[in-house]
Amino acid sequence: MAAVMTDHAVFISVGSNLGDKLDNCLGGIAALTASAESSLLAASRFFRTSPVDYTDQDWFVNAAVKISTTMAPLVLLDKLVSIQQRMGRRADAVRFGPRVLDLDILLYEDWVIRAPRLTIPHPRMHKRVFVLQPMCDINPSIVHPVLGQTVADLLSRIDDEDQRVIPLKNQPALL
Ligand code: AMP
Repeated sequence: MAAVMTDHAVFISVGSNLGDKLDNCLGGIAALTASAESSLLAASRFFRTSPVDYTDQDWFVNAAVKISTTMAPLVLLDKLVSIQQRMGRRADAVRFGPRVLDLDILLYEDWVIRAPRLTIPHPRMHKRVFVLQPMCDINPSIVHPVLGQTVADLLSRIDDEDQRVIPLKNQPALL
């Protein structure tokens, strides 16, 4: 009997601050949705964003995408890690430092996962304008499954002028 493959809605954060940043983000999204296991459902605008945590580095380009995938959470994580490595990301790079491509799982349905290699919802998503603004582009009513607040509410509560998030002037068409 063939196994039943269930589709899951997943939000993924995409970012780059090395090389052709927009091209790196587009390459990451293309790699993620190239196989039959995942397809693109929605995409935010692309933004220029100021670095957070480790601030002595170049600005990033960031976006978020919503995909439909049959991959289980840890399988999807392995896929993201392999795409990042293929796109030239170094495994020994500084934490929060410069990166060719960063792909993070923000939400996987409304599941809460606390595993050694994977925390969902992403543990820092509710503090980051560069995550919440793109998510609001896709759907401001999405509820954070642990905090019980919408991404629009979480975004409105961040009071941090240092987190700059500016839409790119030329937005690529993804869908
Ligand atoms: P970073 O350098 O911040 O991209 O961290 C990458 C590592 O964080 C991955 O190898 C994962 O094991 C771990 N990780 C934990 N939770 C998540 C998540 N929700 N999405 C992506 N990576 C995660």
